[in-house]
Amino acid sequence: MYDYHTHSFFSGDSKTPLEEMVARAVSLGLVEYAVTDHFDPDYPDYPFTLSFPEYHAELIRLEALYREKIRLVKGIEVGIQHGDTLKKCSAAVNAFPYDFVLGSFHCAEGFDICRKDFFAGRSLEDAYIVFYSYMLDCLKKFKDYDVLSHFNVIDRYVDRIPDDEVYMDIVEKIIDILVADGKGIEINTSSFRYGMGERTLPSAAILARYVKMGGEIITTGSDAHRAKDVGYMLDHAREMIKAAGLNRIASFKNREVRFVAL
Ligand SMILES: [Zn+2]
Ligand SMILES: [Zn+2]
Repeated sequence: MYDYHTHSFFSGDSKTPLEEMVARAVSLGLVEYAVTDHFDPDYPDYPFTLSFPEYHAELIRLEALYREKIRLVKGIEVGIQHGDTLKKCSAAVNAFPYDFVLGSFHCAEGFDICRKDFFAGRSLEDAYIVFYSYMLDCLKKFKDYDVLSHFNVIDRYVDRIPDDEVYMDIVEKIIDILVADGKGIEINTSSFRYGMGERTLPSAAILARYVKMGGEIITTGSDAHRAKDVGYMLDHAREMIKAAGLNRIASFKNREVRFVAL
């Protein structure tokens, strides 16, 4: 199994020592384990900064320490927002020889989308259009990532999801950019921990479109912030890849993709 989305106490929203997470991955027999702690430089009202020197030193120490037991993938999850944030994300990504970079949208138009104020004063349909238009606009400019994480994360924060026709044309434009730029998407199994049921990350419709439109880079990740969530439902994620018509999973080294047969 390949867990390509995980956090540790280097992220503002996790308390678990990185070595404890890696040790858990080893005990589960994972083949590769990507550490992707948060750098979300302009997140409103929350300290999602990253202590880079300590983070990098620990990645290098643990990679060597566990070399015989697991392949540790040195990664980062950057929180993409417009304006100067794009430059901060690019600078962070290029300041260290990461193996793998997740690009994420936790915010849109300056709002944290997990909070009600993003949705206030607009219809649900408009909120979806604003969110995906914002992603589209940022991804036209920002290229310093390898895989777009939790594509439809907005689905996590709503009571109902608008009909596909409301926003799928914008999603297709985003996928066009991903495919043209050689970027991947991930299957993020946190949706099952959140009790989202059929609302997977990505949705079946988005996953199918990505594959149909020529996308072939798909990683799987638990988005674990605690040791017990490492490796969570990754076997199911593999089945989702197969169901979408692909027979290989993406792995990264030095920011270059390699494919492993499922
Ligand atoms: Zn995220
Ligand atoms: Zn994450």
